[in-house]
Amino acid sequence: MRDAIRTPEELLRFLDLPAPLLEGAIRSARIFPLLVPRGFAELMERGNPADPLLRQVLPLRVEDDSSEDAVRDAVGDGAARRAPGLIHKYAGRVLLLATGSCAVHCRYCFRRHYPYGDEPGRLEDWRPALEYIAADPTIHEVLLSGGDPLMLPDVRLFDLLESLEAIPHVERLRFHTRLPIVLPSRVTDRLVERWMDSPKRVVIVVHVNHARELGDECRSALQRLVRAGLMVLNQSVLLRGVNDSVESLATLSEALVNLGVLPYYIHQLDRVGGTLHFEVSEVEGRELLTRLRARLPGYAVPRYVREIPGEPGKSDVFAAD
Ligand code: SF4
Repeated sequence: MRDAIRTPEELLRFLDLPAPLLEGAIRSARIFPLLVPRGFAELMERGNPADPLLRQVLPLRVEDDSSEDAVRDAVGDGAARRAPGLIHKYAGRVLLLATGSCAVHCRYCFRRHYPYGDEPGRLEDWRPALEYIAADPTIHEVLLSGGDPLMLPDVRLFDLLESLEAIPHVERLRFHTRLPIVLPSRVTDRLVERWMDSPKRVVIVVHVNHARELGDECRSALQRLVRAGLMVLNQSVLLRGVNDSVESLATLSEALVNLGVLPYYIHQLDRVGGTLHFEVSEVEGRELLTRLRARLPGYAVPRYVREIPGEPGKSDVFAAD
């Protein structure tokens, strides 16, 4: 991450982008800083402000919206916090916010306002969360999210894993991570071996929105995970200007399936402040997914879901039909 791009000036220069973008980018980066690994920026098309990868990371003036129905916590994380770093919303599974750090700052992120500074840093700070999980035998799955759990150094990640593996009723450990995509070098042999050696079922959920994110290094990282026998799923967010066409969704799904990664979810955007310019209406989303279903085999079509605070799970957008 040492050579990651961290300022709008640097990103615009690196990609030969028009100077008028700079002022808005600087202003919006003050609220949610710009962060892009250099290898991910290298996958972007130079001189193209509409590049679908660039759109995910470039701060824009339009983020400064004042829409009344956009909120800071659209998914109800705050109300479901049971211990520092632990969110318990759904039956049978809990979410651990393993770290507040990410390798990339996605402008549409629903956790862009989350107060990560209040969450645990060291293993001993996790004690209340671990005790909560150990005390509830109905919890069979722990999701490690963030931020991005793979931002933790191995020593801290493995300590946390060991503590979770020691809880008998936890059967599955699920990692939600974007690092195999934006920083594939993080998928080291040591990490893969540690996951393979786990006595629990390890599930990796990556996050790709557009097929061009799957560069050579990323493909090889994903293939290593698949060949190691780990279950690898993908989730995307339906994003205006990124993947809001049948062509783009079909190309992504096919590329994932060819790598052995199952397209799992496509999320309706959570209406968080500063992200509404990415929104695709549900009406349009349904139309896109219906056309995708007609084009691909069933297993290659992700479930179109949205999160409604207080609901017992993700809501299938088509369920009301
Ligand atoms: S990597 Fe995930 S948590 Fe981090 S900014 Fe992107 S979407 Fe948000």
